[in-house]
Amino acid sequence: MTTDRCAAAHPEDPTPCVGPHDAVTVLDRSNRGMGGCEHHAARLLASLEGGRVVSAPDHPGAAIRVHKAADTTRPFAWVTDAPRTEPGQLSAAENRAAAQAGDNLSADELPPPFTFRDAYSRAPEMPAETHDVLRLQVTSGDYAAPQEEVREYLLRYAALADRVAEESGDADDQEKAERTGRALLDHDREHGIWRGVYPPGHAIWTHRGPRAYTRQEYITWHRSTA
Ligand SMILES: [Zn+2]
Repeated sequence: MTTDRCAAAHPEDPTPCVGPHDAVTVLDRSNRGMGGCEHHAARLLASLEGGRVVSAPDHPGAAIRVHKAADTTRPFAWVTDAPRTEPGQLSAAENRAAAQAGDNLSADELPPPFTFRDAYSRAPEMPAETHDVLRLQVTSGDYAAPQEEVREYLLRYAALADRVAEESGDADDQEKAERTGRALLDHDREHGIWRGVYPPGHAIWTHRGPRAYTRQEYITWHRSTA
């Protein structure tokens, strides 16, 4: 019965309270407070963005325990049948571990990156490709343009910029290759689109950068159109 539980217990959370019902107060971002037992306070805190917790005067140390427990508690912990793949569905501790795993990816655990030659040896000559990219820029800029066409423009534009930068060695061209590669990577992450081995959200791209992603995607795209 929910009336037997603390105020922090979510109605859909079937678990009973643990300890006093007023051990702590959980505050949300706008400082609205809710009293609770340590168990439900931790679950509530893990589900709030920007929440914090304070101990009741007669329960010193409770807030620290709740804070620690919340760190390893998944948001809406009582929902057990939902997928847990997005950062917002995982605990703070799990997200830190994932970020660290990305940082610790060592080069020898990964396949060698695609070289310039791998990526573009069979690509059209630059003048022809420049012409096609300009055409795509116009057609994909139409608000009614299909998603695939917008994506093809971003990909071929980034690949062209990568080739120009590789050949000129010029700083502005490097910057443009990074920027157009980043636009492709961001677009693909947002839309969940990619064809190569590593998805746009993979930690490998924080190491290798957007131009490496451009090459992966250009190779697979070019193979499929050849
Ligand atoms: Zn409770």
